[in-house]
Amino acid sequence: MNKIKVKTPIVEIDGDEMARVMWHMVKDQLVLPYLDVNIEYYDLQLKKRDETEDKVTLEAAEAIKKYGVGVKCATITPDKKRVKEYNLKKEWSSPNGTIRAALDGAIFRAPILAKNIPPAVRSWKKPIHIARHAYGDVYNNCEYRVPEAGKAELVFTNKAGKELFRGTIQDFIGPGVIQGIPNTDKSIESFAKVCFTYAYDHKLDVWFGAKDTISKTYDGQFRIIFEEEYRKNWAAKFKEAGLEYFFTLIDDAVARIMKTEGGLLWACKNYDGDVMSDMLGSAYRSLAMLTSVLVSPQGYYEFEASHGTIQKHYYKYLKGEKTSSNPMAIIFAWSGCLRKRGELDRTPEVVEFAKKLEEAALKTVENGIMTGDLILVATPDPKNKQVYTEEFIAEVAKRLRKKLK
Ligand code: NAP
Ligand code: MG
Repeated sequence: MNKIKVKTPIVEIDGDEMARVMWHMVKDQLVLPYLDVNIEYYDLQLKKRDETEDKVTLEAAEAIKKYGVGVKCATITPDKKRVKEYNLKKEWSSPNGTIRAALDGAIFRAPILAKNIPPAVRSWKKPIHIARHAYGDVYNNCEYRVPEAGKAELVFTNKAGKELFRGTIQDFIGPGVIQGIPNTDKSIESFAKVCFTYAYDHKLDVWFGAKDTISKTYDGQFRIIFEEEYRKNWAAKFKEAGLEYFFTLIDDAVARIMKTEGGLLWACKNYDGDVMSDMLGSAYRSLAMLTSVLVSPQGYYEFEASHGTIQKHYYKYLKGEKTSSNPMAIIFAWSGCLRKRGELDRTPEVVEFAKKLEEAALKTVENGIMTGDLILVATPDPKNKQVYTEEFIAEVAKRLRKKLK
């Protein structure tokens, strides 16, 4: 069989622990045998980040900017324990944070839907994608423990030193707390742009919820910018594609999400997105059935799985035990990356390969062959069988080979 040619190099970012073990199985058994692809490889395993003083992470981000599309394995974000475990020079910051800052992107998550793994919410028939604004709000806050009675004010002074605003937050009659949170028009505009772009690409309606009845200025600014971006650049295209943009209050959005059929992109402010993506993840039954893609306003893409490095499984693996870790999200990170690469290169045969790889993986689960995380939540069937990771991948490979004949 002739290998399918991928025109532009793909940026591959390797990671840590069990995710890394599965990563190589997927790449060696489901991707490389079928594709003639140039890979720009960056090894972000923790030891390598430490050796290069984390330069390798920045180089990986630059490579995505150069080539446009990358695929990333989960990596350890070190804490005190990991510094000891790996004898690190310091507690390096999160590679995802570093790459996100370099690409100025937003994160989109989407479920992988298999017919026999029904979501916890029965009305959901089509996928609900979620976008989290990755800047501002409480994540960039300034907060203070008020120790005693006194006045708290919000003050803004411009660069020239002129005070433009002063407002009372509270006249405290005793101890309490205060917090100030920022956002910028530029960041909200980028977020709006990537949300509409992503939704248009995937043929999804866009829902955006905020609390602009209470927070008329802060949340109000999100509403204004989203509406402006939609009106200027998307309204006509959306109408033509039969799509719509829908703004509502965040609490109303949450209530409606539970009753919708799905097939939409839910755009969330930073904190809402943090909370709601975890809710969506568990409603879709397994972290391994959730994919994630970082999209930048310049049109760079980085695909990954939503789960981490699965530390507990890795320690078993190191002891020589077999594990039933689920590689679905890793497979879909590769297929997502290949599909996007094929679209940008205008090579339909690469897009077609990505589709077949996804079909083969889904078919395996739908045939009842699945890993431990799914067996308990799958629709009961005597055919259902729990397998180890290697066996699962071999079953996907078998189905893929058949499809490619
Ligand atoms: P995790 O890797 O997401 O795993 C948490 C638990 O979820 C696992 O112990 C396992 O549950 C289940 N799970 C997750 N993925 C699974 C899969 N593919 N198949 C089967 N079960 C799966 O989170 P963690 O173990 O708490 O974090 C480990 C490391 O990952 C941390 O160092 C963190 O910094 C890093 N992390 C990286 C990223 C990223 O790079 N994108 C994201 C999150 C976390 P059971 O043990 O019950 O089977
Ligand atoms: Mg969270």
